[in-house]
Amino acid sequence: MSTNTVENKDLENAKRYVQTVYDAVVARNPHEREFQDAVKEIFDSLAPVLAANPHYIEQRILERMAEPERMITFRVPWVDDRNQIQVNRGFRVQFNSALGPYKGGLRFHPSVNASIIKFLGFEQIFKNALTGQPIGGGKGGSDFDPKGKSDLEIMRFTQSFITELYRHIGPDIDVPAGDIGVGGREIGYMFGQYKRIRGNEAGVFTGKGVGYGGSLTRTEATGYGCVYFVQEMLGARGDSFMDKTVVVSGSGNVSIYAMQKAAELGATIVACSDSDGYIYDPDGININTVRRLKEVERRRISEYVAEHPRATYHPGSQNIWNIKCDIALPCATQNELDEKSAHILVENGVKAIGEGANMPSTLQAIDVFHSSGVLFGPAKAANAGGVAVSALEMSQNSMRLSWTFEEVDAKLKTIMNNIYRQSVDASEAYGHAGNLLMGANIAGFKKVANAMIAQGVV
Ligand code: NDP
Repeated sequence: MSTNTVENKDLENAKRYVQTVYDAVVARNPHEREFQDAVKEIFDSLAPVLAANPHYIEQRILERMAEPERMITFRVPWVDDRNQIQVNRGFRVQFNSALGPYKGGLRFHPSVNASIIKFLGFEQIFKNALTGQPIGGGKGGSDFDPKGKSDLEIMRFTQSFITELYRHIGPDIDVPAGDIGVGGREIGYMFGQYKRIRGNEAGVFTGKGVGYGGSLTRTEATGYGCVYFVQEMLGARGDSFMDKTVVVSGSGNVSIYAMQKAAELGATIVACSDSDGYIYDPDGININTVRRLKEVERRRISEYVAEHPRATYHPGSQNIWNIKCDIALPCATQNELDEKSAHILVENGVKAIGEGANMPSTLQAIDVFHSSGVLFGPAKAANAGGVAVSALEMSQNSMRLSWTFEEVDAKLKTIMNNIYRQSVDASEAYGHAGNLLMGANIAGFKKVANAMIAQGVV
C-alpha cells in the first residue's frame, strides 16, 4: 500500500469522524443554527490535521472543544424612564480556558440568544489563539436593545447586568470587552458598577476609556487590524489599497476605523450602511460625518445625504454588495453577505474580501470566493486586531503603564502580520495553499488542542 493510499484512507476516516462529531453537536444543540454553522466552519477545515495527528481523535478534542466549559444565563431586571419594570436575559459563555482567562466581548442586541453567544464564543477560542496571546475564549451579552434608550436607561440596565455578572468575571478569570451595541459608554458604566462591588480591578474589562486604564488604539484596533490583514493579502499579489474602490458595510466601531485606515492607504470608500439601508457617495464617504452621526450623535446613516448632496441613500442594507468595488469589507453583522451577493461581487470584479464582522459571509458565499480565486480574509484572522489590543490593554493594566498610540499600533501591525503568516503557513502545510480560512482554523486549532492535551482531561 503506498503512503498516498494510507494518507487518503486516513483522510477519509478523519472526515467520517468529523461528520460523526458534528452530527452529535447538532443533535445536542438543536435549533442553534448559528452555533452549528460556526462549528461546521471550523470542523470542515480539520480532517487533514486529524489524519496527520490521530492523537487529537484519541483525546476526543473535537467533542471537548464543542462543549462550553460553562454557560451562564441570568435575569436582568431594570426600570425604564417611564418607571416601568423591564426584564432582559443576560448570557456569558466561558468556552475554553486552555490558553488563559476567558476573553471576548459583550453584545447588546435584540437578536442575542444562546445560539448567537455560543457561535461567537466558539469562534473567539481560535481567534484568540491566533493572536499568540495567553487568552481563552468567551462571549456574552443580552437581548437588550440600546437603540433609542436614554443614557440613564443604559446605565440602569448595565448596572443590573453587572450586579449578576460580576461574580463570574475577574482580571484572571474572564475579561469582557465590547461588541455590537457595547462601546466606551457601556464599558464605562459596567466597569463603574463592578468597581463598587469588587474594588478597583482595572484588568476586568478592556475597551475602557483611556483616562481610566484603557489602551490607546483599542477603539481603532479591529477596523485597522482588518485593513492591515487585507494589506498583507494584497501585498502577496504585488497589490495594495492605493486607488482602490472599497465598500464597507456597517457604520459602527469596526466599520468606521476600517474606512479610516483604508482611506489613509489611498483607497476611496464609496459606500457604508446601517441596519436600515446604505449610502453611496461617488466623491468618497466623508468619514468624519459618519463618525459624528453614528458614534457621537447616535443617528441614522440616511441623514448623511442631507450634508453631502451628491450622495444617495438606499433603503435595505443587503443591496450594498451590488455596488462595483475592488475590495469589500463586511463589518456589520453575521450572515450579511450571502451566496447571491458573493456572485454579484465576483461578477463586478472584486479582488479581496476582508471580514471585519464575525462570520459576515455565509458558508456558501465563502465557497464562491474561494472557487473564484478572490482573496478571502476570514473573520477569525482578519478581525482579531480588536481582541489583540484588548490583551495589550490587560498587559498595560498589569504593569500599570500606558503605551503610546504609535507603540500599540506598531504591535497591532506585527500581530496582524503574524496571524497572516500563520494562516498562510498552515494552509500550505496541509495542502490547501491560498485557503486562509483553512489555514487560520488549523493554526488556531492546533494551539488550543495542544494546550488542552498538556493539561489533561479537564
Ligand atoms: P457596532 O454596534 O459599533 O456597529 C454595528 C454596525 O452594524 C452598526 O452600524 C449597525 O447599524 C450595523 N448593522 C447591524 N446589523 C446590520 C445589518 N443587518 N446590515 C447592515 N448593517 C447592520 O458594532 P461593532 O462595529 O463593534 O461590531 C460589528 C461586527 O464586528 C460584529 O460582527 C462584531 O461581532 C464584530 N467584531 C467587533 C469587534 C470590536 O472590537 N468591536 C471585534 C471583533 C469583531 P445600526 O446602527 O442600524 O444598528
